[in-house]
Amino acid sequence: MSSQSAQAISSLRDKIATSTRILVRERLIGPFGHPSARIPGTDWVAVLGHTHDDVKDLSETEPGDVVVMDLDGDVVEGSMDAPGERYMHTEIYRARPDVGAVIHAHPMHCIAFSMTDVPLAPVWHLCTLFADGVPVYDSAVQIDNPERGQAVAAALADRKGILLKGHGLTVVGSSIEEATVSAVNLERSARLQIMAQGLGAVEAIDRAELTDDLLTDGLTLEEYTHTQWDYWAMETAR
Ligand SMILES: [Zn+2]
Repeated sequence: MSSQSAQAISSLRDKIATSTRILVRERLIGPFGHPSARIPGTDWVAVLGHTHDDVKDLSETEPGDVVVMDLDGDVVEGSMDAPGERYMHTEIYRARPDVGAVIHAHPMHCIAFSMTDVPLAPVWHLCTLFADGVPVYDSAVQIDNPERGQAVAAALADRKGILLKGHGLTVVGSSIEEATVSAVNLERSARLQIMAQGLGAVEAIDRAELTDDLLTDGLTLEEYTHTQWDYWAMETAR
């Protein structure tokens, strides 16, 4: 391994620990669910390890709780197993070279949408990244083999997120920061949409108000990602 890769792994271990603490605080994961990130220039992926056996409080996640696996799901660095649903991550990385990070989580408000034919709509200004739509994978099974991982990747296609019926969600991004922020905002937006539907008919944000990056006009991807990531990272710092 080059010293450059070693440095990238160390940095991603740190960021995945931060991502985990943010996702726990937002009730997206714990005890199940896991963020991962592709290690640039390699076929390796850093992912939160399979921590269930120790009944560890994930709000205390540290860089040492992150393992490195190859795209077959075999651990190449770290002291614990990779998560059981590792194949959702590996097969999305194989299918989508543009993806640098994957979050798999089980948040309640998004799962509610997966149980109905009401689509998650771009209703909130911090969640328009998903304006192209969030498909639903029509099965609640664990994604615990490569074939199921490939089926989820095919259903995701070129989108930024997918719901798994009666199970959870998977969100992708170019970086661990972007994927984490997007996953949190998708769950917050799902909650807002449910609240608003109780008040009356819900209107989506007009597509004409969105930039090419699918952000509301005036907001850059850098601002969207790092303003929220930096703030939440500070709040959950250890
Ligand atoms: Zn799951």
